[in-house]
Amino acid sequence: MEISITKAKPAQLKPKPQDESQLGFGDIFTDHMFLMDYEAGKGWFNPRIEPYGDLCFDPAAMGLHYGQEIFEGLKAYRGKNGGIYLFRARDNVARLNRSAQRLCMPEVDTDLVMEGLKKLIELDQEWVPRSRGTSLYIRPTMIATEPHLGVRPSNTYVFYIIIGPVAAYYKEGLNPVKIWVETEYVRAAPGGTGEAKTSGNYAASLLAAEKAKEKGFTQVLWLDAVERKYVEEVGTMNMFFVIGDEVITAPLTGTILPGITRDSVLRILKGWGINVSERSLRIDEVVEAAENGSLKEAFGTGTAAVISPVGQITYKGKDYVIAGGRMGELSQRLYDEIVAIQYAEKPDSYGWVERIV
Ligand SMILES: *Cc1c(COP(=O)(O)O)cnc(C)c1O
Repeated sequence: MEISITKAKPAQLKPKPQDESQLGFGDIFTDHMFLMDYEAGKGWFNPRIEPYGDLCFDPAAMGLHYGQEIFEGLKAYRGKNGGIYLFRARDNVARLNRSAQRLCMPEVDTDLVMEGLKKLIELDQEWVPRSRGTSLYIRPTMIATEPHLGVRPSNTYVFYIIIGPVAAYYKEGLNPVKIWVETEYVRAAPGGTGEAKTSGNYAASLLAAEKAKEKGFTQVLWLDAVERKYVEEVGTMNMFFVIGDEVITAPLTGTILPGITRDSVLRILKGWGINVSERSLRIDEVVEAAENGSLKEAFGTGTAAVISPVGQITYKGKDYVIAGGRMGELSQRLYDEIVAIQYAEKPDSYGWVERIV
């Protein structure tokens, strides 16, 4: 399928941010976007790049009512020799397709989406920021568009990709965050949609996150929905705990998001010969380890923050300081390694990085 390109007119071009140190997250988008449409019986059609702009939906569009919406989050980096590099992008498209299956939405063709993404970035390449730590955030999205109010899967969809320059995700930067262990609300139950990147999961998480924010916490650490006993993940990150000489993260049993950063961390740690386990971890075990001094580090992993060290967790009214409230040694080493690969400053022995410009 041929991707048609309609370039923005000079008068439509937006001013680019002047000061890269002032970039936030998710507020600025480039001049163009990629789109394509789907109809049952016809498949995906009309892949195109157009000037960035409003989408037009019927108010009865099913995605707006029943949550048939999925998305992805990945980044492109301005790295060695001014090149622009994608990190594990095909893995994101594969995960989008797994989310699509769970939500009864149509899968996309990975090669077509990759081609559209690359052409879009190439066209808007001047938007990719140059300072270390900044990047181009990429948000592929699919939403059901059929105007119909009966509950069933939609027959029509739009898929689009928007991109924009971002700074580091957390205001604190690499400074450790404080995390609230949530014992009342839950994020995802077994058999639910926890492993899909779909809007409903985030809507369901907002109230707990707002309450935690009021108490001064950056993020909520979710426990399992059945027993409130096992550690799952935080808002948009998977969690790792270093207890003694073991690095532990929750297993992929359907209730947590299978993070690509999580997978990268697992593979790097294994490559370093570090003892790493994907296993159920009781919050009591974490608290005991914090009390007896064997909890060395805790960190979250996700595209936005890469590695986000956790300096404190609060569980049942008690504060537990981790790694003296500072970034741990392993967290730092992992951050340095992944960032060096993403910016193509280091040979990529994993085949994760692809130069596009
Ligand atoms: C996106 C996301 C992650 C992190 O996934 P990455 O692929 O590493 O960015 C973790 N948890 C949730 C709930 C997420 O939405």
